[in-house]
Amino acid sequence: MRYGIISDIHANLPALERALEELDRLVVDTFLCLGDIVGYGAWPNECCDIVRELDCICVRGNHDEAAIRPGKEQWFTSGARACILWTREILSQENADFLRALEPLREVVSDELPLGITLCHGSVPDQDFYTTTAADAVYSFQAANTPLIFFGHTHYAEWFALGADVVLPMHQPLPEGGSCKLKPNVAYLINPGAVGQPRDGNPQASFAVYDTEAALVEICRFDYDIQRTQEQMHEVGLPEPMAMRLSLGI
Ligand code: ZN
Repeated sequence: MRYGIISDIHANLPALERALEELDRLVVDTFLCLGDIVGYGAWPNECCDIVRELDCICVRGNHDEAAIRPGKEQWFTSGARACILWTREILSQENADFLRALEPLREVVSDELPLGITLCHGSVPDQDFYTTTAADAVYSFQAANTPLIFFGHTHYAEWFALGADVVLPMHQPLPEGGSCKLKPNVAYLINPGAVGQPRDGNPQASFAVYDTEAALVEICRFDYDIQRTQEQMHEVGLPEPMAMRLSLGI
């Protein structure tokens, strides 16, 4: 079984379209989505339509929640807040209902899977928590029922691994992409990076492929038409710094 794992699309249609082309080329059986389909970008309805069409298991991100829950944006930076207020205005009823139905945590366990998988946005216990350090990762390892966890939210491609008899997990950032070979009796917390707004210094979009037979998770970085995304953000009046950051991957 090969899973295509996408996260933090953030209404960036050119990046999502390229991600799906790349995943088609790499051949995956099904998709998993770690939330933040909307927010920041100029195509929230189009991106929701595509994710709904994928018919994949998807968890809710903090921006997905803010798009349908007035008040939640008070915790956002001013730029993110402006984007989510605009998103709320143009989101279709159908897509608002879709986002409302998403849950913050999903477990995927089946006879076909060698390892159960937990999907979350920020961390297993808290959708809004930023997992950036090995100490942060411990919260998710402690709360999960499965040895393999995928998360998003930070927009950094990376993995953490926790073996027996160690206190702190190992931490491997992968801003240029790379792989994680899953070993027995080790728990993994893996971030596929962001499709629509990378922040790890590499403006290339990011996703992961988990091959269950090979026990391998590969993180792939790829180019997309950043200028098209920026032009559309400008066209609909979203804050300029939110468009500029895409060129820098911050
Ligand atoms: Zn996000």
